[in-house]
Amino acid sequence: MALLKIQVLGSPILRQQTVPVETITDELRTLIDDMIETMYAARGIGLAAPQVGRSERVAVIDVEGDSPFAIINPQIVRNDSDLAKAEEGCLSIPDVYGDVARPEKVTVRAMDRDGREFELEAEGLLARCLQHEIDHLDGRLFIDYLSTLRRKAVMAKWATIKGKYPGYIRTLTAEEVAEHHHRDEEL
Ligand code: ZN
Repeated sequence: MALLKIQVLGSPILRQQTVPVETITDELRTLIDDMIETMYAARGIGLAAPQVGRSERVAVIDVEGDSPFAIINPQIVRNDSDLAKAEEGCLSIPDVYGDVARPEKVTVRAMDRDGREFELEAEGLLARCLQHEIDHLDGRLFIDYLSTLRRKAVMAKWATIKGKYPGYIRTLTAEEVAEHHHRDEEL
């Protein structure tokens, strides 16, 4: 397995639509394994393909810390519950956080890494993570949901941070990797 470089805010691929997966190949499974390893190394609970510079409609998630899974070609098939607000972060916008209101419960249909279709009813953090990752697959970021004022504040903060990531690339350091048992809730 290999650690992948993470694209940060400003990288055009984060704003592009992904392409549905037609065939599950060994190459795709390797990408999924590498994405899971990278998500853990970055202490995240979710990671979508555009965040590692890829355009496949694939994301990986693990909100428990010991049960990673992939969602391939995911679709939200139900999201009519009440909205819940909670703070989100993103591995592609390090050190920036904001409150986002989203449906508290969702049902997602996707394929797993073996090409089997499944449906997942989720609530709470898992529901939030699924929506955040599926947004990535449609070129949307959590900052898009912030109020104009809050978004301005967030972008001002980002302006002081982004210089750490030349070329909009975040390379995980050995130190970060060694600490990967400390998990933040970044998606
Ligand atoms: Zn994210």
